[in-house]
Amino acid sequence: MAFLPFYIPRQKQLKIVIIGGGYAGIAALTTLLHYMPDANITIVDPRSHHIKITHLHETFRYPLQDFLIPFSVLEQRFGCHYICAKLSIEEDNIQQWQKNKFITINKETLEFDYVLIASGAAAEQSDRAHNILDLNDFFTTPGPDLLNSHLVTTNQAKPFISVIGGGATGIQFLFEIAHFFRRQKIEYNLRLIHANDRVLQQFPTDFSIYTEARMKELSIDFYPDTYYREQKNEKIFVEVKGTGRKFNLPSKLTLLFIGNRPDNYLSANTFGQVIIDKQPMQNIFTAGDCSSYNSFGSNTITAQSAVRKGKLAARNILRSSGVLKLLEPYLHRDLGYVISLGPTDAVGWLALENNVVGGIPALVIKELVECQYDLLLTGIDTYLI
Ligand SMILES: Cc1cc2nc3c(=O)[nH]c(=O)nc-3n(C[C@H](O)[C@H](O)[C@H](O)COP(=O)(O)OP(=O)(O)OC[C@H]3O[C@@H](n4cnc5c(N)ncnc54)[C@H](O)[C@@H]3O)c2cc1C
Repeated sequence: MAFLPFYIPRQKQLKIVIIGGGYAGIAALTTLLHYMPDANITIVDPRSHHIKITHLHETFRYPLQDFLIPFSVLEQRFGCHYICAKLSIEEDNIQQWQKNKFITINKETLEFDYVLIASGAAAEQSDRAHNILDLNDFFTTPGPDLLNSHLVTTNQAKPFISVIGGGATGIQFLFEIAHFFRRQKIEYNLRLIHANDRVLQQFPTDFSIYTEARMKELSIDFYPDTYYREQKNEKIFVEVKGTGRKFNLPSKLTLLFIGNRPDNYLSANTFGQVIIDKQPMQNIFTAGDCSSYNSFGSNTITAQSAVRKGKLAARNILRSSGVLKLLEPYLHRDLGYVISLGPTDAVGWLALENNVVGGIPALVIKELVECQYDLLLTGIDTYLI
């Protein structure tokens, strides 16, 4: 059995429920099994597959299947159990789980020693007009199929397509769509509507300068400081920030990438234990996008943080069950972040936020990071920090 500092086991087999089999959940699963191969782990997730979300925009180039791993495969690979269910993650429920040490799922009772909540922060699918797409649509249908199904019905020579949101996700989809149309030789008008004065505003200004220059080269119209209001029939209604001026534009299809669910973040202490009414839930941990740790470590909504939090929570679950009960604080700082700008370009930072890299070097960094996660999915952990 691998050695984990400050962990002197008391039990050979813990019962652990992981709610959410995304990046944080899988990182926790592999870490737990590394130090406790006999752990009895159940993953609960409403999806049938683990989705490599960081690749989702690439379904314009590769089959969606390449980015899906059935939970049944992970069950076999790691010897864990999988239950297809969506749990209601509310404070009352969490307090009940902590008190009872069991969860009722699909009318069955699942006893546990520890729970890890890693349910992400993706926005729920909402009712909307047929010509509006959002991230949820790409979980089940490849990008080209989604676009083709909407554009096939148009008789416009050069249909207008609006992408809303110039954050990391919106930008990655925007460039993939532009390149997809070019490859397919489809005539189109593509525009980006963004509520801020520059794209990727959470990153250094060089990111925005680089990206906006590439957008110009691809003839993408940019509407900065503009709020999306609604899409009705074949028009998009927007409002200018500051002046309140409202206008509409033709739009055959609108793609919404306007961020994550703002509610439902769980507070946690620096060890990853959920905090409710200022009290740590001793047996309920959280990790990934749904968690906000009260610590010096990074709380960014990224796969990088999700994996680090998942691994830390797993180590602390084991330590908390051990003799010493000495837990490790979360101190991970982001090492970099790369945003892809289509198949052959990217922009990112490495080591220091102002160390901006673009083009092939940035693409190579992204590939390396993705390969590291692919290895983790096979059970090989190469994360040093
Ligand atoms: C297009 C795109 C590109 C990205 N690129 C990058 C990148 O290059 N680098 C980077 O660091 N980050 C990137 N991100 C962000 C990254 O994907 C997320 O930060 C990461 O997926 C968070 O991991 P997570 O485990 O917290 O949540 P997720 O990976 O979203 O997993 C959450 C899981 O919980 C399940 N779940 C949800 N609700 C419930 C419930 N009630 N009960 C049970 N299960 C539930 C979901 O089905 C899902 O399987 C990208 C995101 C997108 C959308």
